[in-house]
Amino acid sequence: MSDLTPCDKVLLVQAELDGELDAAQAAALEAHRTDCPICRASQAELMRARGLMRGDLYEPMPDDVRTRVMARLRQVAPPPAPAPRRRRNWDWLRGPSIGFGLGAACAAAISLLVVLPERNDLIDQVVAGHIRALQPGHLEDVVSTDQHTVKPWFDGRIDFAPPVRDFAAEGFPLRGGRLDYLGGRPVAALVYQRDKHIIDLYVWPASGAGPHLAGDTTIQGYNVVHWAAGRMNFWAVSDVERGQLDDFAALWKKAP
Ligand SMILES: [Zn+2]
Repeated sequence: MSDLTPCDKVLLVQAELDGELDAAQAAALEAHRTDCPICRASQAELMRARGLMRGDLYEPMPDDVRTRVMARLRQVAPPPAPAPRRRRNWDWLRGPSIGFGLGAACAAAISLLVVLPERNDLIDQVVAGHIRALQPGHLEDVVSTDQHTVKPWFDGRIDFAPPVRDFAAEGFPLRGGRLDYLGGRPVAALVYQRDKHIIDLYVWPASGAGPHLAGDTTIQGYNVVHWAAGRMNFWAVSDVERGQLDDFAALWKKAP
């Protein structure tokens, strides 16, 4: 095949990189490519382009990130599932020992840790702040079950007015509040109680153009729920069970 002759298989090169070929098709394309300079060049160009696009993923992973990836993997890796394995064309490359579950867990962990480092750092800080506050004497700077006492306490101590609500009637009584420091800025921490568990709710203004991240996670046994409302960021963290923390978040989201 001459360099000047377009090759009708060149589209398959793209499909291969997209994981759309089955093993037989991929093997045939591989064989074809040894004789076809157009497809070889096309593959090299596409891989180079993707390497540039995802350059951060191809760089050596820093040690601290690797440590956190492995820690996160232990949390997100699903148990072996009997569900039918999703057929992927890369499987024949990977070998039989790496299943889709671990691959998906890896992708999830890497996307959390590498693609969204800021958010992940923030989740870590939220949990670390909560654990720190649980040490004796660190939980509240103002101790009150009255939202009309807690809210004005923040006046002059922080550059915004956090919404403060008591949900005692719903089983989440307010205990007080304190100043904390997250994501490089002072934030309001509202302290709630659920039975014997403490819930910290961190509140600070959402930056105008910032993404409204939704989602939740569990780190070191602490559940974390995040939402944004009324131009404020909310991060709730606690060792109460996930369903109860979701109930707590739902109360806030319903509040006027
Ligand atoms: Zn070709």
